[in-house]
Amino acid sequence: MRILSGIQPSGALHLGNYFGMMRPALDLQEEGEAYYFIADYHSMTSLTDAAERRRNSLDVALDFLACGLDPERTVFFRQSDVPEVTELTWLLGAVTPMGLLERCHSYKDKIARGISFNFGLFAYPVLMAADILIYDSNLVPVGQDQKQHVEVTRDIAIKFNELYGSTFVIPEPQIREATARVPGTDSEKMSKSYGNTIEIFGDEKTLRKKVMSIKMDSRTPAEPKPDADQNLAIQLLKLVAPAEVARDSEDRLRAGGLGYGDLKKALFDHYWEFFAAPRRRRAELNANLDQVHAVLRDGAARARAVARTVLDRARRNCGLA
Ligand code: ATP
Ligand code: MG
Repeated sequence: MRILSGIQPSGALHLGNYFGMMRPALDLQEEGEAYYFIADYHSMTSLTDAAERRRNSLDVALDFLACGLDPERTVFFRQSDVPEVTELTWLLGAVTPMGLLERCHSYKDKIARGISFNFGLFAYPVLMAADILIYDSNLVPVGQDQKQHVEVTRDIAIKFNELYGSTFVIPEPQIREATARVPGTDSEKMSKSYGNTIEIFGDEKTLRKKVMSIKMDSRTPAEPKPDADQNLAIQLLKLVAPAEVARDSEDRLRAGGLGYGDLKKALFDHYWEFFAAPRRRRAELNANLDQVHAVLRDGAARARAVARTVLDRARRNCGLA
């Protein structure tokens, strides 16, 4: 089984990325051949600072390796190190009905947020289809927001196969329900481009301040809160604290007596503890960047060999070769 997933270097990685995609993807490393990449071509649809892209790409590499990506087992690479994927994007785009892309929620959500809209953002699902199909991927672990894009990938692959004969493997999305949509500090989907993130790594003081300034309602600590399960801090606590700790806090909030300040303090402490070991590993890797660059170079070579084979198959089948 081949497993594929990617993450954009469009900003610092956050709890949504970790619980929605990285953790499930890292767990799947044991189940098959995993191909995970830093989606730097995709990041061009929202980020236009070259130095920032370069720095973010290295940060994503450090984050992934610190969180447990095993480069012996998993092919880990930068998307743009396999430029074959852009050629495949054209082949796929030419069989993609406009209506299929016009129905996609992701770009509409970004427009609604006031993010400037370019052709790349609209065409994003076609590049993503190429990312997936070029490695003959079977399984794509993603957050809820990417489910529709994997369905678009399936539709494009089926269409291409119908037109040109069996070419692509039809992939399946894999979504972990409990963490499919991690809420940000404004309760919307946590997103790098929405300014509502709690990062996986970063400066302790800044992150503590972020957690402590999550907005709560104006009810007093003593007041019972029957909607305790809807509380944002409780939802995040469930991700980073042992189950019994989160349950206890939820019960105390529901019954009345637990103040929001204390709840947020507990959330910060558990969150900080949760990533303590990866934080140490990340610092070690950061002192050894040659090794990180070598991992990406090796990953690119391995990924590119597979991509070339699949692209050649597609070119042959559609009469380009
Ligand atoms: P951007 O705002 O630039 O789109 P992002 O924060 O949405 O960035 P992506 O790189 O687009 O992050 O997504 C990487 C992976 O993380 C995808 O599989 C996506 O589904 C998942 N993901 C992103 N945000 C969340 C979230 N809040 N909850 C669960 N999964 C998420
Ligand atoms: Mg996104």
